[in-house]
Amino acid sequence: AARPGTDFIRARILQDNASGRFGGKVHTRFPPEPNGYLHLGHAKSICLNFGVAKEFHGQCNLRFDDTNPTKEDTEYVDAIREDVRWLGGDWEDREFYASDYFERLYSYAEELIKMGKAYVDDLSADAIREYRGTLTRPGRESPWRNRSVEENLDLFRRMRAGEFPDGSRVLRAKIDMASPNLVMRDPTLYRIRHAAHHRTGEAWRIYPMYDYTHCLSDSIEGITHSLCTLEFVNNRELYDWVLDTLGVYHPQQIEFARLNLTYTILSKRKLIQLVREGHVSGWDDPRMPTLSGLRRRGVPPEALREFCARIGLARADSVVDYAMLEFCIRERLNAHAKRLMAVLDPIKVVIENYPEGQVEELEMPFHPEDPAYGSRKTPFAREIYIERDDFRLDPPQKYHRLSPGAEVRLRYAYLLTCREALLDQDGNVRELRCVYDPQSRGGQSPDGRKVKGTIHWVAAASAVPAEVRLYSQLFAVENPDEAPEGKTFLDNLNPHSLQVVRGLLEPAAAALETGEAVQFERLGYFCKDKDSTAALPVFNRTATLRDTWAK
Ligand code: ATP
Ligand code: MG
Ligand code: MG
Repeated sequence: AARPGTDFIRARILQDNASGRFGGKVHTRFPPEPNGYLHLGHAKSICLNFGVAKEFHGQCNLRFDDTNPTKEDTEYVDAIREDVRWLGGDWEDREFYASDYFERLYSYAEELIKMGKAYVDDLSADAIREYRGTLTRPGRESPWRNRSVEENLDLFRRMRAGEFPDGSRVLRAKIDMASPNLVMRDPTLYRIRHAAHHRTGEAWRIYPMYDYTHCLSDSIEGITHSLCTLEFVNNRELYDWVLDTLGVYHPQQIEFARLNLTYTILSKRKLIQLVREGHVSGWDDPRMPTLSGLRRRGVPPEALREFCARIGLARADSVVDYAMLEFCIRERLNAHAKRLMAVLDPIKVVIENYPEGQVEELEMPFHPEDPAYGSRKTPFAREIYIERDDFRLDPPQKYHRLSPGAEVRLRYAYLLTCREALLDQDGNVRELRCVYDPQSRGGQSPDGRKVKGTIHWVAAASAVPAEVRLYSQLFAVENPDEAPEGKTFLDNLNPHSLQVVRGLLEPAAAALETGEAVQFERLGYFCKDKDSTAALPVFNRTATLRDTWAK
């Protein structure tokens, strides 16, 4: 895990602490816009902001950056709170909303107008864009740029009062239309929006822009280090300009590379599209890269924190291999998931020399390496199921599982020899007739004969039927954003990302709780889904035991 000073951000904070810049204080914030669910990219930001605060004995705020009334909703606020808490972010009582600062932000704007540093512009959005120029073409000043302070104040107050329609006017900072930084060419500070806000209702007819709101919110909250992603590098100059011009407390913005992941889309806009168009079952579809999807899939928060620590921080964009995330998930689950047996594609086995009607309870540990997990009793009887794939009529060389005449070990039970395979009309194996060695209880061979293969099984009469959802990548290609001419990321969806099967589980599986991690031996890691009913439990595959899809 990351330690103070081990990356450029932590090194910088150490430096600031050493120079006494912020009085040795560290105060960060995680600032989501409540316009969608949090995803893996946000996890990186959460781990960074809350992690840094913890390591330096500081604090981290949860701040909702809610300045876009038409895109935001309390559903998202609630989901974000749940997800941050799940990942281990603790903001205590420091939950803030940019909308709580609307009145203060408005006063600051009037101050800027009075200083001659902001003006009301009547140009349309298109005209403003046109006047702004480009990197190679300097901008032109708006004909409204030199309005008097009185006229600007009057118009801005009337904007607030709701006298003008959407889009008819904006408030702009008066900076420099020739600046080499396009962001500094008189950026918009306020726009008119006759829309209800999820918290302030109809109180406001004008809403502040992100760049204006963010720096002032940081300042108001006494943030020391405002950590954001690289696309805000050019916005830092404006961040500094607003705070310096107003002469208020000034946090330090520092940028880091955003997380990109192979086979994965991390853009709220596109994730919303997947949900709205029904390509997935919802925000928490276990194939989604959202925190709620990952949680439902069975990914432990510890695995995500480890992942974020391993990927580290960089100042240049890169793409992380999805296999790295899976590695962290498997590592955590291998150490902490209970083991049980399940058969997903059953063939019936009749053990001819096992007494009819007899059932014995075999004691099995929940975890082969950690006795702290305890044990369970699993019934064994004359009729059991094994995995179809663990039998071959015509076995290849070195096949150590079951075939006619071959002997195999039933996990924690007995040695079993196949006498005969019964086929149906189509030549498919319908049932195996076998015999067991009564002297081999627990799976030991009584005379020391070698039995290489060990397979899992469940007793037929007590098996619990379940729906098992086998997931693979939601996207079939490494970079889903890359689509040929005329196609979109949706054309890169993997049509086989969900396979649903009926499985049979040992009885102890019925006692698992929703979300609890389990390894079905030899099959993968799973967890019980919220769609489970008393009649039919549903399980999600969190991960396979090995990397089966990557090259
Ligand atoms: P999106 O581009 O998906 O809409 P966003 O950046 O607009 O994401 P916000 O809700 O504003 O979404 O993000 C909250 C915080 O999370 C911001 O500080 C942002 O920088 C950070 N963040 C978002 N996506 C990533 C990512 N892929 N990697 C790292 N940090 C991210
Ligand atoms: Mg954002
Ligand atoms: Mg966004």
